[in-house]
Amino acid sequence: MTGSTKYIFVTGGVTSSLGKGIISASLAKLLQARGFTVTIQKLDPYINVDPGTMNPYEHGECFVTEDGAETDLDLGHYERFLDVHTSKANNVTTGRIYQNVINKERRGEYLGKTVQVIPHITDEIKSHIQVLGRRGIYDFVITEVGGTVGDIESLPYVEAIRQLKWQKGKDCLTIHLTLLPYLSTTGELKTKPTQHSVKELLSLGVQPDILVCRTEHPMQKGMKEKIALFCNVDTTSVIESRDADTIYDVPLMMQQEGLDQVVLSKLGIDAYPDADLTHWNDFLRRFKNPTAEVNIGLVGKYVELRDAYKSIKEALDHAGAANESKVNIQWIHSDKLTAKNVSKRLGSLSGILVAPGFGHRGIEGKIEAIKFARENKIPFLGICLGMQCAVIEFGRNVMGLSEANSTEMNADTKDPVIAMMENQKDVEDKGGTMRLGAYPCKITEGSLARTIYKKKDITERHRHRYEFNNTYLNAYKKAGMEATGINPEGKLVEIVEIKDHPWFVGVQFHPEYRSTVAKPHPLFINFVKAAMDQGSTPIETAEVTEATG
Ligand code: GLN
Repeated sequence: MTGSTKYIFVTGGVTSSLGKGIISASLAKLLQARGFTVTIQKLDPYINVDPGTMNPYEHGECFVTEDGAETDLDLGHYERFLDVHTSKANNVTTGRIYQNVINKERRGEYLGKTVQVIPHITDEIKSHIQVLGRRGIYDFVITEVGGTVGDIESLPYVEAIRQLKWQKGKDCLTIHLTLLPYLSTTGELKTKPTQHSVKELLSLGVQPDILVCRTEHPMQKGMKEKIALFCNVDTTSVIESRDADTIYDVPLMMQQEGLDQVVLSKLGIDAYPDADLTHWNDFLRRFKNPTAEVNIGLVGKYVELRDAYKSIKEALDHAGAANESKVNIQWIHSDKLTAKNVSKRLGSLSGILVAPGFGHRGIEGKIEAIKFARENKIPFLGICLGMQCAVIEFGRNVMGLSEANSTEMNADTKDPVIAMMENQKDVEDKGGTMRLGAYPCKITEGSLARTIYKKKDITERHRHRYEFNNTYLNAYKKAGMEATGINPEGKLVEIVEIKDHPWFVGVQFHPEYRSTVAKPHPLFINFVKAAMDQGSTPIETAEVTEATG
C-alpha cells in the first residue's frame, strides 16, 4: 500500500475478557490475507514494567518474543494468527511508560518543566504507538488497549488516542468492543450497556468509528440500526460477534460481517485484492474434522488456570490439526501426583508433557510423572523446567545420584545437575538474570531431534535462569541420556534425549512460542504423532464440517 501507516485502535467496554486480542488478531489476519502488512501492539494499563515478574495466576502465560521481551499472552495470539514475529515494541505497559518518563526527568530532558500526565505521559504513549509505524514496513498498526474504558488506569491511553485521532485525522480509526447481555427472563439482548460505554468514550473525547458487539445469541432485527442511531455510527459499522466454537473461526466470522471492508472504506482505501484464506481454511478443515483422537497429559502446577499454558495448548491444537487428530488434553496437577497415584492418573495417556515453571512447588509430582513416562515408554516432552526435571529424575533413578537436584530447589544439593550459569551468578536483580529470547542450537547428527527438525542449526526462544550442569555431561551420556542439542557459543545443553525409549525429548527452550497456524511446530507435530502411535482412537462418526467462508 502506498501512503502513510494507518493506525487502528481497539478499546473495550462493558466488561473485560470480551476477546479484544482475538478481534484484533482476526482483523489483522483479514487485512494480511488481502496482501497488506500488519502488526499488532498491546498497551497494558498496569504498573508492572512487564508481566515477567507476575504470577501466572494473575496474568496467565507470559509470552516471550524473539528479542527476549516478556509480554502479554495476547501477543501469542497475534503471532499464531499472523505468523509474523512481534518484539518488545509490541507490548507497552504503564510501568514502562512511567519508567521512561521518570528516567528522562532525571536526565534533565524536560528542561526544568513540571512533568505531568498530559502532555508528558501521553506524549510517551503516542511515541510508543508510532514506533512501529515509523519502521515504514507496516500498512497497518493495530493497537489494542488493555482494560475497560472508564477504568482510571486506561484514561491516559484513551487521551493519547484522542490526540492522535485529532492530529492524524483520516489515518486513524477506533474500534470499540462491547457486550450485548442476554436477559433470559425476557429472552432479549440489551443494548443499554453498549450505549453507556460509548457515552463514556465520548466523554473522553473519542467517537468510536466501529462497534463490535459480543453476543451469545444472534442480534435481533433492527438492533444494529438502534445501536447505530444511539452511538453515532453507520449501521454497517455495527458488527455482530457471536461466540465461536474456536478462536480460529473468528476471522471468518468477522469477514462475513464485513469488518475488514468497513475498516478499509473508513480509512479511505478503495482498491484492494480479495482475501486469500486458503491456508487458514485448510487448517480449519483439518482441525474440525479429525479422524482420530489422542489423550495427552499436561502436567503443571497452574493447571486450574488454563491461560497459564496458553501457547502449549495452542501448539498441541496446531499439531493435532497437522496430524488430523483431536488432542484431548488431560490437565494434571503436579502438586497432586505421588508415587502411589501416578499410574492411576497417567495410565491411560498416550503422551505426557511436563510444563515449564518456577520454584519448588509441584516439582516432585513432575519427577514422578517423568519416571512413569520413562519406565512405561510413553512419549514424553519436557519443556524448560520439564526438561530440567527429566535430568533430575534420570540422575536420581537411573544413575543413583539420590540427591540430584536443581540449585533453584536446593542450593546445597550434593549433585547440582541443574545449576545457574557462572556468568549469571553476579546478576542480582531478579528481572535481569534470565536467559531470554532466541538463541541458536546445534543438533547432533543421528538424533531424534535431528530427524524432527530436519536440519542441524535451529534457533528457539528461552526463558530461564538455570541450565544443565556440564560437569555431568559424560556421566549422563554413559548412562543413556544424551545432550543432542547444544548452544554453539556457551556450550549450554538445549536438548536431551533417552536412546532406550520410543520418544523422550527434553528441551531447555520453549518451542510452543514458535508454533503458528501457518507453521505448526515440528516438535509438537512429532510428539502428537508419537502419542498417536502409542494409542489413539479412530473417530468414525465424525461429520465433515465445512470451514465457513
Ligand atoms: N525455573 C527454571 C529456570 O529458571 C525453568 C524456567 C522455565 O520453565 N521457564 O531455569
